[in-house]
Amino acid sequence: MDQLRQTILQAIGALDPTNKRSDQRLVIFDIDDTLIRSSDDKPIPSVILLYNYAKFLDYRLVIITNRIGDEQVMIDTETQLRNAGITGYERVYFRSPNNSNNPWKFKNRARMKERERGYTIAMSVGDQDWDILGDEVEIAVKIT
Ligand SMILES: [Mg+2]
Repeated sequence: MDQLRQTILQAIGALDPTNKRSDQRLVIFDIDDTLIRSSDDKPIPSVILLYNYAKFLDYRLVIITNRIGDEQVMIDTETQLRNAGITGYERVYFRSPNNSNNPWKFKNRARMKERERGYTIAMSVGDQDWDILGDEVEIAVKIT
């Protein structure tokens, strides 16, 4: 079995089928080389399967991307997500065009904001360590 398939099957098995929407538990996804392959802008089907499975179980979904959030990038990204069938998320975090935050700080701060909103981070899915590492993340899923 290839590594990605194994990773996705493990992640699916780790999600709680008794989860309720009111539990306010989040699954966070990165975009580039997680939901969308950056070399050709194509969706990565097995990761989208995990996204849709988490949605089916009523997990809340949040996307945190290192893409710089200028207006055109935000519009293009939302179109790209919709075209890939990625819908129903609570919000997308983009990096501010006005700062040069490193991705560790940016991703960490975005996760902290979600905790301040009352969400628990059940799972975080990404291809980089900064997507998934942090005490607040219950289950880290590294896409390789
Ligand atoms: Mg990435």
